[in-house]
Amino acid sequence: MPDPVIPYGHQSIDDDDIEAVARVLRSDYLTTGPAVAASEEDLQRATGARHAVVVNSGTAALHTAYAAAGIGPGDEVITSPLTFAATANAALFLGARPVFADIDSATGAIDSAAVEAAITPQTRAMVAVDYAGLPADYDTLREIATRRGIRLIADAAHSLGATYNGRRVGGLADITILSFHPVKAITTGEGGAVLTDDDAAADFARAFRTHGIVRAPALLRRQEGPWHQEMQALGHNYRLTDIQAALGSSQLRKLDRFVARRREIAAAYDKALSGVPGIILPGRREGSESAWHLYVVRVLDGSRRREFFEALQAHGLGVQVHYEPVYRHPYYEDLGYAGGLCPRAEGFSAAAVSIPIYPALTDAQVVRVSEAVTLAGREVLS
Ligand SMILES: *Cc1c(COP(=O)(O)O)cnc(C)c1O
Repeated sequence: MPDPVIPYGHQSIDDDDIEAVARVLRSDYLTTGPAVAASEEDLQRATGARHAVVVNSGTAALHTAYAAAGIGPGDEVITSPLTFAATANAALFLGARPVFADIDSATGAIDSAAVEAAITPQTRAMVAVDYAGLPADYDTLREIATRRGIRLIADAAHSLGATYNGRRVGGLADITILSFHPVKAITTGEGGAVLTDDDAAADFARAFRTHGIVRAPALLRRQEGPWHQEMQALGHNYRLTDIQAALGSSQLRKLDRFVARRREIAAAYDKALSGVPGIILPGRREGSESAWHLYVVRVLDGSRRREFFEALQAHGLGVQVHYEPVYRHPYYEDLGYAGGLCPRAEGFSAAAVSIPIYPALTDAQVVRVSEAVTLAGREVLS
């Protein structure tokens, strides 16, 4: 029997997570109960954000965050093409146009100069993506956002637990979104959150996740009686269940341990793979600590990427590519986005391979992955 395939990412669920979920299943509230409120307080404590609004996916969090930032028809939203499609899709949901700015090839993060060059009178927001878990260059982006009067949003789906110049992810942008998909830092099965220090954005997000309906007396436009609630905006059902929220709180207690283990694995790869011919190891940035959602190696000769990828698969690794540039998807091509738009992102993407990294990887598996990458590199790239 060959060893089972080691996936690029995997959740870590312990008995205490299962117990936390079971307690909710035996309680009075399956949704919109005390576990949701508790998970939001836990997220505020963990990130330092003034408000956390949990929703039922990272994509819902993006949609909610963009709507809270006032993005609407005719607006432009500048973002990175090196991301999951949802980052750009959420602008389309609101009738806005995604504008792709090229990346910094060293880190995979959006390039500040490219962002500045892409700003037009229609630009409402810029969305940084903390690629692979490394925070984008927020000080520079913040300066541009302030000077040009646009909103700064962080897609931190990869970076919960990371720091930028000693500051935690969650307080680096006007609004930050998280994803709790199983491959992310912590999981609720499906889930996400909107983090912000802005009271009005938080109120908007709380209403948007539940049809735009408001109940808090201070927010009502009319006072009709104790039964009264108002729909003040067109919202959605983006509510996270208490079942999921309890799992999230239980997972969040282990975040520091999870991130520490990811950092340990990244350091082990850095050491073991430094001599492999024909590959570039992930970049770092002075002052930032990545949460290591992904460990992305790049082949120097992009024309060998497919062979290298298939060799890694043959050695039992569940490798992936993060990501093909968003605008290369046929849907975006049909909207008129053409190849060549962001050459650095295209080059990065064409060379990238994500190898396994997640907290439950054993030391023996880290060695197995390192050996497979070394072997594939020697076979294909030297
Ligand atoms: C996972 C992810 C999302 C979407 O999150 P879901 O919870 O899967 O909806 C958005 N942006 C990035 C960068 C992601 O990795």
